[in-house]
Amino acid sequence: MDQPSHHPTTGPSPTSSLVPESRSAQPVSSHAAGALPTQSSQRTIRRLIREDQICVLTLDRPGSEANLFDRRALAELGEELDFVAGAPQIKGLVITSAKRSIFIAGADLNMMSESAPLEQVRELIAQGQAVMNRLAALPIPTVAAIHGAAVGGGYELCLACDYRLASPERVTRMGLPETQLGLLPAWGGATRLPRLIGLPRALDIILGGKTLAAKQACRCGMVDDLVPAEYLVDVAARRISRGKRRRSARRLYLNNRLVASVIAARLRSQLAKKTRGHYPAVLKALEVVTRGISKTIAESLALERDAILQLVQTEAFRNLVRVFFLQERAKKRTLVAAGRGTTGAVPAATNAESRPSAPEAPVSPAATVPKPIKRVAVIGAGVMGAGIAQWLSSRRLRVILRDINTEQVAKGMASIAKVYHEGLKRRLFTAREVRDGLDRLYPAPAEVPLRQVEVVIEAAVENLESKKNIFRRLDELAGDHTILATNTSALPISELAAGTRRPERVVGLHFFNPVHRMQLVEIVAARQTAAEVLQRALLFVQQIGKLPVVVKDSPGFLVNRILMPYLIEAGNLFEAGAGITNLDEAMLDFGMPMGPMRLLDEVGIDVALHVAETIAAHYSDRMAVPRTLSKMAQEGLLGRKSGRGFYLHHKSKEPQPNTQLANDHAAHLTSHASPLDLQERMVFLMINEAARCLEELIVTDPADVDFAMIMGTGFAPFRGGPLRYADTLGADKLAGAMDYLVDNGAAHFKPCALLRSMAASGKKFYHNEPASGGIS
Ligand code: NAD
Repeated sequence: MDQPSHHPTTGPSPTSSLVPESRSAQPVSSHAAGALPTQSSQRTIRRLIREDQICVLTLDRPGSEANLFDRRALAELGEELDFVAGAPQIKGLVITSAKRSIFIAGADLNMMSESAPLEQVRELIAQGQAVMNRLAALPIPTVAAIHGAAVGGGYELCLACDYRLASPERVTRMGLPETQLGLLPAWGGATRLPRLIGLPRALDIILGGKTLAAKQACRCGMVDDLVPAEYLVDVAARRISRGKRRRSARRLYLNNRLVASVIAARLRSQLAKKTRGHYPAVLKALEVVTRGISKTIAESLALERDAILQLVQTEAFRNLVRVFFLQERAKKRTLVAAGRGTTGAVPAATNAESRPSAPEAPVSPAATVPKPIKRVAVIGAGVMGAGIAQWLSSRRLRVILRDINTEQVAKGMASIAKVYHEGLKRRLFTAREVRDGLDRLYPAPAEVPLRQVEVVIEAAVENLESKKNIFRRLDELAGDHTILATNTSALPISELAAGTRRPERVVGLHFFNPVHRMQLVEIVAARQTAAEVLQRALLFVQQIGKLPVVVKDSPGFLVNRILMPYLIEAGNLFEAGAGITNLDEAMLDFGMPMGPMRLLDEVGIDVALHVAETIAAHYSDRMAVPRTLSKMAQEGLLGRKSGRGFYLHHKSKEPQPNTQLANDHAAHLTSHASPLDLQERMVFLMINEAARCLEELIVTDPADVDFAMIMGTGFAPFRGGPLRYADTLGADKLAGAMDYLVDNGAAHFKPCALLRSMAASGKKFYHNEPASGGIS
């Protein structure tokens, strides 16, 4: 059971735009013949002086697929600019990248992580601004020849050039996503972008933390022209002949103090409402841009510096940047196991790059470099099966989509086509990609051979007996090395495995709904799952561009198990007389992307009920499904899909609370619980269940819990996840508040043993270690 995750200011993931997906792209062409190579390959920047006396600086960070600005790269760029400034024969400068899909992915965030001293951040900002200023002040024309992602500091470099040319390819995106990380662009971005494209457009990009595709960027003036990658540098070199750029007054008539103050006043209240005060960076960026626009460049840069130094000290920044590192960690994780080929225990997932000397042996050398998966079968073409099949086909895998009859398969294919066509409208796919993606799907209304298939993902109805039958049959049909995976939300995977001849190859791959939007996949290790199979499953999830978390098989796994007590408590509070809107508003105020009642409606009351019943059956000491949910399911009040649930859903209007429901099902008393009381009751239960998951070794790392809850449910990212939030409250205070509720008749708040012992010892879930990992 899953739910859309929303970043309160912009989109589904707080940081997704910083390091974009790497897709195939044309390499940038080599430069003009007769050029003089001048430097060693260990440096990030290669300098070339062409015969026409144009200097080309090519960024190519050694040993990495991405270019990043760390202090060394910045210093190198500074040296190169000094060289150019001191060489009177050089007529112009072109800056480009040798990477396939990255121009420059911004600043190395390690330099700003929570362990970085403030003084270091101050120096870094000053150094970045100084280098960009030096570039902007060169007396010769300068051109950024952009192929690949130019984001954050990468796009600020482009802004400091006279001209910007970009390849039109998919990998080429540009923008300033800093506010999504709790920062603002402070290497001149907040100063130069409004001066280039005008205040309103610049605010849209900076406050939204947006990155745009090259075509859109060209339309709004962020780049001057689109040029195929193979001609970029040559066309850029020709552009030098136009001379230094003069500022165009066309777009800038709104760049004045009066307009700025009107815009600032209007946006301030809108943004305060939208962010509910949790994302200070957005308001800070608004202030800097609207004040800076009527000041000199130097004064505006000073505003940027002051603002970013305040922002790096906020809890929101620390948590958002941690989420970013956790996403990067998930992309690179691999498994280590105490013994080779062991089954049962979940081997610790580790970040191979950040912890090279992990004590355990790798699962097996062969397993760490397997061939990419090419052929998959999905069993069940319903909501999830179709979603998974669409995603896999869009990632270039061949997919058999099997259901019980032609009608069901056709329905699945129709919903796949719909996702593709929506993607086409939003320019996520080209028409050709849609056609190719659909061509990679093989509808199967009857049994087909599965010997050649490397992974089978079962996504049929959530019924243990029927899934057991399916697994028995798959066991016969599939090849010996085929992984048999299930997408079950809460059924015991060990039981499904037990019915097969080779239970060691059965694993859970729990995707979240909607599959094309939700990045998280829980990889569930059954008792019998071989470590090697887990490792292959992990690499498969990474191969298809999803973010894995490896968890032990237990009812509800990790995410649904922690979410369920929260939703159940919301139902209990509703039955006790709390208003639908009060409950939702309380949790929106807390920072959730959506309130619990609305979430139940979006998920579907029947689906939520089924998962709740499965999970509550195992934890009946503390969970009992509110009767309202079963009554609603019986009465057909299924939420959005039936038009009525906790809300009345109209196509064209915002959903309205279903007041009739409160009359029918809730206690006839008005709850006097304050928003804080409501928040505490719902969140405390999530924290307690999260702590139990650690106790039971469902996962071993608190960061896995927090990461999964943020990515799988949208848990307030700026709070860093339920366990991080628990640390900010303190275990003693938390346990005390929960004991108080127990004393007042709410026995299900009893703190678990881990929380109790932490309360006694003063320990925290995180022992003050910084979130590990860099972004290169
Ligand atoms: P659904 O009812 O939309 O689709 C199930 C499909 O399975 C139907 O098309 C049905 O015809 C087909 N089916 C039934 N028996 C079959 C068989 N023997 N062989 C092949 N196909 C068969 O269900 P759904 O929401 O897509 O859920 C599928 C699975 O994914 C369930 O296990 C569910 O718990 C899990 N899940 C659901 C969600 C969600 O939000 N819907 C999220 C995560 C996981």
